[in-house]
Amino acid sequence: MKKWFAVIGDPIAQSKSPEMHMAWYEEANVDATYIPVHVKPENLEEAVASLKLLGASGWNVTIPHKQTIIPFLDELDELADKMGAVNTVVRTSEGKLKGYNTDGPGFVRSLEDVIGETQRDEPILLIGAGGAARGIAFALQMAGYCHISIANRTVEKARNIIDELGMGQALSMKEAEQQLESFKIFIQTTPAGMSTGNFDLPFSLEKFPKGAIAADIVYNPLMTPFLHAAQAKDATIVNGLGMFVHQGAIAYQHWLQSYPNTNVMIARLTKQLGGN
Ligand code: NAP
Repeated sequence: MKKWFAVIGDPIAQSKSPEMHMAWYEEANVDATYIPVHVKPENLEEAVASLKLLGASGWNVTIPHKQTIIPFLDELDELADKMGAVNTVVRTSEGKLKGYNTDGPGFVRSLEDVIGETQRDEPILLIGAGGAARGIAFALQMAGYCHISIANRTVEKARNIIDELGMGQALSMKEAEQQLESFKIFIQTTPAGMSTGNFDLPFSLEKFPKGAIAADIVYNPLMTPFLHAAQAKDATIVNGLGMFVHQGAIAYQHWLQSYPNTNVMIARLTKQLGGN
């Protein structure tokens, strides 16, 4: 029987997930479909019950439902539980709904697509301490990265993640700005630089070390002001598109037990976003 998958969110029309998953099904000859479903917060419980009743094999979850869906699921995997957020739901063979979070692991794969696995001892500075930063921090730790510090406008939020990680420092943006030279890998996770955003990079890159690694999880535009500034200091650049594609690929793997072609998808979406 044909399988079907979905992505639920509010808004949802802008999501590139349906196009990405449908292209993967076509490429691998998988008899499945993937649809966007607009779900308002007040309808979430009913929407989950309906997806289950109508036989969806799994679905992705996006803003604003990543936390609020949890009470309607039967179980969570370890990372989703730690993060308190779910972006992928799998219907298990027993008919249970299990929540996963593939955002953080997706980021780690995209980073290692570019820099390999040999830099796990290098000091990392995460900029931002929101939901995405939290997932990335735990996924980096699970992958074996062992020096992670976090700078955030609200230092207390950075402190909370650092305390849970049991490593590194929680810094204000000013403190981070002064200590940039002591880090090798920089991961920008705030919405600064988004095409729809309206605020600047949270700090000056005057002391940005030469030859570092600079990742941004914003992917529209592909080259954010942070990446432009880092490139001017000879940094190796990792844009946010790889994270998006790999979070989808890991969800695909949970549902269909194989890993789709991420390189072709990254090239295709890069072109759509005006990159090369
Ligand atoms: P979030 O939970 O709302 O966190 C936002 C973070 O940005 C917080 O650290 C916040 O600081 C900081 N921030 C917001 N406005 C700021 C300002 N004016 N000045 C300084 N810092 C500011 O958001 P999120 O879910 O983590 O998402 C963050 C970004 O990641 C979004 O742009 C999202 O599109 C992107 N994202 C990309 C992917 C991907 O696949 N590539 C996946 C997930 C998210 P405070 O704590 O002080 O408020």
